[in-house]
Amino acid sequence: MEVSFNLCPSLQRPAMAQACILQGARVALSPSLAEHRDLVIRDGFIERLVQPGTRPPLLNGNVSTYDLSNCLVLPGLINAHDHLEFGLFPRLGRGPYPDARQWALDIYRPNESPIRGLLEVPRTTRLFWGGMRNLLSGVTTVCHHNAYEREVFEGEFPVRVLKRYGWSHSLDFSDDVVADFKKTPENAPFFIHLGEGTTEASRREIHWLDQSGLMNDKTVIIHGVALQAAEWELIRQRGARAVWCPSSNQFTLGQTLSPTLLQSGMVAALGNDSPLTAAGGLLQEIECALELGAGIHQLYAMVTQTAAQVLRLSHGEGTIKEGGVADLLVVSDWGGSPGEHLCYPTGIQIEAVFCGGRLMLAGAAATSENTDTESAGPMTRFNYGGTDYWTPLDLSQHLEATKKTLGKGFRLAGKRLELAKPI
Ligand SMILES: [Zn+2]
Repeated sequence: MEVSFNLCPSLQRPAMAQACILQGARVALSPSLAEHRDLVIRDGFIERLVQPGTRPPLLNGNVSTYDLSNCLVLPGLINAHDHLEFGLFPRLGRGPYPDARQWALDIYRPNESPIRGLLEVPRTTRLFWGGMRNLLSGVTTVCHHNAYEREVFEGEFPVRVLKRYGWSHSLDFSDDVVADFKKTPENAPFFIHLGEGTTEASRREIHWLDQSGLMNDKTVIIHGVALQAAEWELIRQRGARAVWCPSSNQFTLGQTLSPTLLQSGMVAALGNDSPLTAAGGLLQEIECALELGAGIHQLYAMVTQTAAQVLRLSHGEGTIKEGGVADLLVVSDWGGSPGEHLCYPTGIQIEAVFCGGRLMLAGAAATSENTDTESAGPMTRFNYGGTDYWTPLDLSQHLEATKKTLGKGFRLAGKRLELAKPI
């Protein structure tokens, strides 16, 4: 499928990014509905959604047009759980384990390969790869389960990282969960790994939390595999939320939640845990959830609007609407509904990812004859798992820092990433 895709030079530099128009694509208005609309984007937000052929409002300044014929525009995906500093790590452990504590004790060998070598890669670079792993799965916002690192996440970073939140690692590995909860900013979510096991002790964790007064509408339970119907009812009553990480749970515990548990009044998002335990990126997590019986509409919501609700995002993330932030995932259009595209068995073909109106990733179409390679300017072409992409991010410094320690053959979520050979 041929896509005319003109890379927009102004969007390569955020300070200059002012306005652009995305034309010719179908736009996702819900999981079941997509219609042809042109998107007028200004200063990172969707200013107008107009009928094709409608004369767009007068735009002053530096305006670029993208022809996205044969594409479908989805909301940028939201990953509700990750540990970005482990972006480069492989899966570690030989489960199933009774709980996450046993898994952690088994794999924590910092003086042995491969952990020793991986930890020698500078933390900034490891965090960057964690961001790239998300971007390559169509993610535009991720919830990082660790302290917020302003200098890294607010620099040249591949995706948005949730900024207003509180967190504790878990009852096992946090010193003072009550203090962590109290430090959570007002109206922000509080994330904690909980019930990550198959034992009675894991199940009881939620009762400790409740008796300590830490179960309310701020609380977001990550995993919850050990919880039974009574505990899920408690979560509902307290207005708490949940994040489901199916491939991670299956790897460490040998089982996970039933997707039906997460329906009927539960506000739950999908999480793509770090590659220490997850099968791949967020798109592989969706695949895993589908195999476990989750529905297309349920999953679509769990990585878009409901995920935004869980993370308490308030700028239209997870939707495509006027006034909302221009976080967009552009995929090759085969005519199905937005939900069917996202959940298609052979996966989606990513054509582009925009974050705040800025082109962060362009797919194979950008290398087609129709591409305005002159304006590609500082875009870098790279190959990930056999597919070529373009990005405005400076990959070379991170590649250098990584190869120095791990050699050329390092893998990101199981796939090779390297600069593409010149055309
Ligand atoms: Zn986790």
